Amino acid sequence: MSYHSRKTQAIINLKALKHNYQQITTLAPNSQNIAVIKANAYGHGAIEVAKSLRDVVPAFAVGFFDEAIALRQAGIDLPIILLEGPLCEHDCALAIKENLWLMLHNFEQLNWLATLSQPYTGKLWLKIDTGMSRLGFMPEEIDNAVASLTSQQQKNIVLCSHFSSAEELDNPKTLKQIELLAHLVANYQCQFSLANSAGIIHWPQSHGDYNRLGIALYTPLNEKTSTSTLNLIPAMTLQSTIIGLRDLAIGDSVGYGEIWQAQRPSRIATIAIGYGDGYPRNAKAGTPVWINGEFAPMVGRVSMDMITIDVTELANVNLGDCVELWGENLAVETVAKYLDTINYELLTRISDRVLRIYK
Ligand SMILES: *Cc1c(COP(=O)(O)O)cnc(C)c1O
Repeated sequence: MSYHSRKTQAIINLKALKHNYQQITTLAPNSQNIAVIKANAYGHGAIEVAKSLRDVVPAFAVGFFDEAIALRQAGIDLPIILLEGPLCEHDCALAIKENLWLMLHNFEQLNWLATLSQPYTGKLWLKIDTGMSRLGFMPEEIDNAVASLTSQQQKNIVLCSHFSSAEELDNPKTLKQIELLAHLVANYQCQFSLANSAGIIHWPQSHGDYNRLGIALYTPLNEKTSTSTLNLIPAMTLQSTIIGLRDLAIGDSVGYGEIWQAQRPSRIATIAIGYGDGYPRNAKAGTPVWINGEFAPMVGRVSMDMITIDVTELANVNLGDCVELWGENLAVETVAKYLDTINYELLTRISDRVLRIYK
């Protein structure tokens, strides 16, 4: 795509990403802090984000192979860890060829590894289930898992696990997970990795040889966790423009299903973004947007290509004006509350229709 008359854009601030990385990693100076760039770097563009961070990070993490291969094809040659692990035997062979780090979480994957003609010599991440109950070996299975590795592979083990509730500062589950993994690490005398963003920021006891830094690279965390003194900058500003303006009389309705009617003479602005762009259809009346320095509420139903905003109270609104859906002036965390979701989901679901512009 090279013709863009529809100014529906995600402006990505690469300096903010680097700033956020440096801010957060001062909290964990003794760890290698891996940048998690799965799901197209949480919607920010994995290749551009990787290129901008490659000089400051030790490694990247993605979800699965296709995401890693795309980075290799773009010339990213740092280690890349696959957080969901290999999904077939061929993935293991490819990991060797492409210098990817495997995260293994079941015995079938260990069998694949054992049958390879060329041995895997990278960091061998063994995922332990410390209470998330999705993936990972149970603590009592680790002996057998380790026994199936070559002695060289045993030297490269990184025991790892994932928090279920690290953003809840008073939830005792997190300490239990930390203690369980620490106990196993002491047993096996190996490297470990536990902390995600909330772990790095709020649970210093969880800092490991490697930490896995995701969401906090991209946006300040939600309010529950904003007790720290970090000064994080939102890296994405999602914006569009006003493409229609009309004045409604009392009783006129707006949009599909007529779910909103004017209770007073009202001015409605139509904005060029909708659920086809990843702006959620379940957005309720009242969800804020930011126009010319003021907040204004969404009204009516989200369409595929458009939303409608009540701008009656705004002093100065014109066709073509820029509208911020979230970003520097309106926190994605605030918008997420109106949409019954979280910052992660809003950022990752922005579709390819939305042009990413890097500054
Ligand atoms: C996504 C992911 C992370 C990053 O988590 P954030 O909360 O975004 O920092 C870390 N570890 C694993 C296994 C993940 O899947």
